[in-house]
Amino acid sequence: MLILAGMVFHVSLDVVHVTQMQSLKQSLSEEASSICPACGEWCEALQLHTVHFSPSMLNRYNAKKFVVLCPTCHEKAHSK
Ligand SMILES: [Zn+2]
Ligand SMILES: [Zn+2]
Repeated sequence: MLILAGMVFHVSLDVVHVTQMQSLKQSLSEEASSICPACGEWCEALQLHTVHFSPSMLNRYNAKKFVVLCPTCHEKAHSK
């Protein structure tokens, strides 16, 4: 029973995470007018990149901790 409750808790956290990330991506992309802030190129599918990962759940989905980047700049951001 405990294991099941733990699993349900974990799955619901994942759902919250995915939903939060999707809405962050959407609002940040709209804010950027689908233009990558790093290279200035228009990109239809900007990707959400985590700048600061917060260990606190309360602060984790703060828009200040994320940026949207085009796939090229996103790849560069990770290869640094
Ligand atoms: Zn870019
Ligand atoms: Zn990233």
